[in-house]
Amino acid sequence: MNRKKLNRYQIRKAKFSQGPLHKKKKKKKKTLWFRYSATMPDSILYYHNTLFLFIIFTLVPLPLSLIELCFPSFLSKYKIQPKVWLTPAKFLECYKNVMKVFFLVVCPLQLMSYPTVKLIGIRAGLPLPSLWEVGVQLLVYFLIEDYGNYWLHRWLHGKWGYENIHKVHHEFTAPIGFAAPYAHWSEVLILGIPTFVGPALVPGHMITLWLWIALRQIEALDTHSGYDLPLSFTKFIPFYGGAEYHDYHHYVGGQSQSNFASVFTYCDYLYGTDKGYRYQKAHLAKLKEQWALGDQNGVSDLKSNQKSE
Ligand SMILES: [Zn+2]
Ligand SMILES: [Zn+2]
Repeated sequence: MNRKKLNRYQIRKAKFSQGPLHKKKKKKKKTLWFRYSATMPDSILYYHNTLFLFIIFTLVPLPLSLIELCFPSFLSKYKIQPKVWLTPAKFLECYKNVMKVFFLVVCPLQLMSYPTVKLIGIRAGLPLPSLWEVGVQLLVYFLIEDYGNYWLHRWLHGKWGYENIHKVHHEFTAPIGFAAPYAHWSEVLILGIPTFVGPALVPGHMITLWLWIALRQIEALDTHSGYDLPLSFTKFIPFYGGAEYHDYHHYVGGQSQSNFASVFTYCDYLYGTDKGYRYQKAHLAKLKEQWALGDQNGVSDLKSNQKSE
């Protein structure tokens, strides 16, 4: 870019970020929200969450599931448990069970919880929250949920909690995306508590609440996907557990006293519940290194044998 062009670019950028264009854009967002929400009761805006969850539970796990069912070899090298391949019937059964709990438990819970949402002070009008406000609140919600979920999940791995509630979620020893919300109805209620503690302590805008509910569920679907994809942007989130981390929890199964946290890894590290996972990971890395070395030696041995022949 020559000097003249660079100057024009800088002027345009400055005009956009500080000038009337930027203000116009901000105003446009406000007008859009005003037009959409002005005639709508706040309760209906809150019930949008139900629709979003239905779309998320149905569509987010679909691409990877279709790839697994129709083109199994395409991503097989990234599959965390490559020996386990579920049938289409099993996928469908999982989805049907998730939808049963969704319509019988999640939807009524959403309908009944609106007065609480109103009480804690979730606002739906103008002004819209700034990106900074939304970002900080989402981070706080994630940290609070992660901590609460860690202890409740750990309790669910006790004898009574596991036998009566949590073993349903562990039916999938090699999880798939659709299995993230696959759980006993009471588990959905219990683990729903830390999801609402964040917004109750730091109430924000309805849009922030929509984003929070959606992102938390997308994160759960991601950690249950069964694939450790190398290009996932979540690899750049500090202390993020991810699919491989939670997959280990399912792989070990009912006896698992490891990797309880839902999002980050710090709780398991602090309370010493990731030791088995870290040992297994280090052991596997060592084995891989030995295999690689063995392969190299095998190749060089073969080459030297060929030379001497
Ligand atoms: Zn568990
Ligand atoms: Zn799980």
